[in-house]
Amino acid sequence: MRIGEIITALEEWAPPALQESYDNSGLIVGNSDWETQGVLVALDCLESVVDEAIEKKVQFIVAHHPIVFSGLKRFNGHTYIERVIMKAIKHNIAIYAIHTNLDNVLWGVNAKIMSLLGVTDHKVLSPMPDALYKFQVYVPVMNRDALAAAVFAAGGGKVSAYEECSFTTSGKGTFKPTEGTNPVVGDIGVREEVEEVKLEFIVPNFAKSAVEHAARKAHPYEEMAFEWINTANKATDYGAGAYGELPQPISFEAFLKQVKTTFSTTIKYTKPTSENVRTVAVCGGSGSFLLGAAKAVKADVFLTADYKYHQFFDADGSLAILDVGHFESEQFTIGLIAEFIEKKFPKFAVLTTEVNTNPIQYY
Ligand SMILES: [Zn+2]
Repeated sequence: MRIGEIITALEEWAPPALQESYDNSGLIVGNSDWETQGVLVALDCLESVVDEAIEKKVQFIVAHHPIVFSGLKRFNGHTYIERVIMKAIKHNIAIYAIHTNLDNVLWGVNAKIMSLLGVTDHKVLSPMPDALYKFQVYVPVMNRDALAAAVFAAGGGKVSAYEECSFTTSGKGTFKPTEGTNPVVGDIGVREEVEEVKLEFIVPNFAKSAVEHAARKAHPYEEMAFEWINTANKATDYGAGAYGELPQPISFEAFLKQVKTTFSTTIKYTKPTSENVRTVAVCGGSGSFLLGAAKAVKADVFLTADYKYHQFFDADGSLAILDVGHFESEQFTIGLIAEFIEKKFPKFAVLTTEVNTNPIQYY
């Protein structure tokens, strides 16, 4: 299969535009025209993972963490990053990273953690600001359906689990074509009046250019009248972290036990502040920046990783922080990505790495 086909599916699922500014998600090594016999999914693309791809005759590695975050100046193999890149290129192995863009969708990294904790109805903990726009466009009545279909196909009109959402108002449009124009309706120098509709759609930030382009193609006029309005609506589908309620409140100790078993890890935690655990906030990976959001939703516990000593004090009697380890908190992301690709391409070989890439050992 062509690598590009898998990338297209991954990017519909977790649009790269949703990645954080420091991130480097996307195709890091290779070309989307390359062919591959299968895909190998890992959390980190280390040299041992590239070796595994060579051994298993797979030319495409999809990893959660990008192997390259910032610019490389030399390729002489002195660092593990250079060695990974050199080996991958030498063996025609493409490397793709799906990182904070998969953290920032409701159905991503944190959804997997929530389902393992038994939370069935979770929400985004920190909805992305400026993520939702309104697209208003004016179109002759007869072109309304074609234009709406084009906007829907380009990713507009999605509100949570509802698709093809729009609003129509009828009215009259006026315009006077001047010298040099080529109007579809009306004559040069004469004011024209046309029965038009105003169509309105909610569009996520990352789909704005695709929607505008599609609308222009479907619009009959030489000049399309339209507006983009930045809404203050909360982006329920996009943002960092997740929170939700356990089906039944359980004691803090029972919750600790459940987490320990599920994540097979050693937990660092602060004292419980409520007798039972009901509301759970989570963030796979380094999530300390979300503590305020976890407090705001009145979470009993905040499960994440990469907490430093002084940061634990910030729990400050509001909730209990549980640090389960970075690798451990994200280990199920491998399965999440693999299951997605398998579902999209059922006849395609999807492998998950057998290499444990966690650099941290416990004694
Ligand atoms: Zn991570």
